[in-house]
Amino acid sequence: TIGRNLQRAVDTWPDREALVDVPSGRRWTYAQFGADVDELARGLLAHGVTQGDRVGIWAVNCPEWVLVQYATARIGAVMVNINPAYRAHELAYVLRQSGVCVLIASTGHKGTDYREQVRQVAPDCPELRERVFIGEQSWDALVASAAGVTEEQLASAEAALSCDDAVNIQYTSGTTGFPKGATLSHHNILNNGYWVGETVGYTEQDRVCLPVPFYHCFGMVMGNLGATSHGACVVIPAPSFEPAATLRAVQQERCTSLYGVPTMFIAELNLPDFASYDLSSLRTGIMAGSPCPVEVMKRVVAEMHMAEVSICYGMTETSPVSLQTRRDDDLERRTGTVGRVLPHIEVKVVDPVTGVTLPRGEPGELCTRGYSVMLGYWAEPEKTAEVIDAGRWMHTGDLAVLREDGYAQIVGRIKDMIIRGGENIYPREVEEFLYTHPKIADVQVVGVPHETYGEEVLACVILRDPADTLTLDEVRAYCRDRLAHYKVPSRLRILESFPMTVSGKVRKVELREGYGEL
Ligand code: ATP
Ligand code: MG
Repeated sequence: TIGRNLQRAVDTWPDREALVDVPSGRRWTYAQFGADVDELARGLLAHGVTQGDRVGIWAVNCPEWVLVQYATARIGAVMVNINPAYRAHELAYVLRQSGVCVLIASTGHKGTDYREQVRQVAPDCPELRERVFIGEQSWDALVASAAGVTEEQLASAEAALSCDDAVNIQYTSGTTGFPKGATLSHHNILNNGYWVGETVGYTEQDRVCLPVPFYHCFGMVMGNLGATSHGACVVIPAPSFEPAATLRAVQQERCTSLYGVPTMFIAELNLPDFASYDLSSLRTGIMAGSPCPVEVMKRVVAEMHMAEVSICYGMTETSPVSLQTRRDDDLERRTGTVGRVLPHIEVKVVDPVTGVTLPRGEPGELCTRGYSVMLGYWAEPEKTAEVIDAGRWMHTGDLAVLREDGYAQIVGRIKDMIIRGGENIYPREVEEFLYTHPKIADVQVVGVPHETYGEEVLACVILRDPADTLTLDEVRAYCRDRLAHYKVPSRLRILESFPMTVSGKVRKVELREGYGEL
């Protein structure tokens, strides 16, 4: 279980740093961290939380988030990660859907008051019996109540747990629709975090900078579990992503590893004072969540010193990672693929319509199987049955090509594929090409309805220099003779930013719908 694994880290590396919060300057060694987790776990027991109870956490990145993650796991409670960007009605949905009985929240962030929103929704959430606010008296009282529970009581609560018990409900990013709650076991996520850390080669010498949200599997599994299962240190640069604060934290804490989705790395590389940060301590990092443009990868390797940077492919439902590049992979594999399968996981590519397994090299729907496949969507057996088949294969909804060398390429999401006059267009390919345009800083390509072609290609562009202009004719001239004519965008929108999920993914749905409303 996650609790026993943490105990092993505490016993092995008691004096090494486990957690650093850069904004507040607070630091924990493994011994101190283990003791604080214990105390919080006993506090939760004192508040009547027992095995299987759902404990919600609604906060931006902070040390208490990590303490709650391990304390709930120690006593077998099921932690429910709540997206910090949610507003009252979404909060109410998650609390009710998962039956949260204790909610631990921060007081708010960037002008929002979580206390007010929690107060609003509480009457609609009959199972919610306790609200705790980090940094307020209710948090101190929770911790102080540990005095009423002995170490023996904690140990016996822990002894009752099995590694196949649910430990976490993680909601998907909601990139393609409404988020779904994936129920994950200790075995699911602890193993996955361990293997991701093993693949990048973490040891107790590593210091991992995490600007990615903890509420998402990227932060809490690949980050927190990946680091602590190898005795590495988690460094929190800021409550939510800020490019300058991230690079400052890397420099100040001599981090060896940095995580991010591609858009985060783009923002860091584009900082006007980028060259002034000392990033020479970096060796590795993880880039995941969405496709990484080749140009960005080259700069991450060359200018951020992340020669061993790892690409991961995964999804919340599979704990999350299935495919990952290796430390000694060359640039071609690091930029052209999302890696090869992790130990103890199987992959195959099938025809999305017939389900027949396709030969290597042919694009089709990626399916994965192994310890990492979730227990199911929380309280939604029909939705679970739509994605996990009788053979326990998870159907990812992503189109992939599995190469002869075992490395996989993600071609796009089935839902994002553009079908124009019977031709299949993978937005990724058009995006990769447009990234090479000197005026374009970031680009998203989506299909929008067209009377005769069914769909046509819309390019949404963020310019390098916001004062600049770019016309559709310029774009089309740039593509001419270099991109098949049907893939050339016939619509252009210049934007200042893209609609994003909190996990840093572009909501193409909104780009499509927003276009229709114009
Ligand atoms: P929802 O399921 O709610 O629509 P989501 O699928 O974005 O949202 P996540 O579970 O956070 O929610 O993300 C998993 C998806 O992210 C994958 O199915 C895939 O489409 C995409 N993805 C993950 N890693 C990569 C990668 N390295 N390259 C390309 N796409 C990736
Ligand atoms: Mg998904």
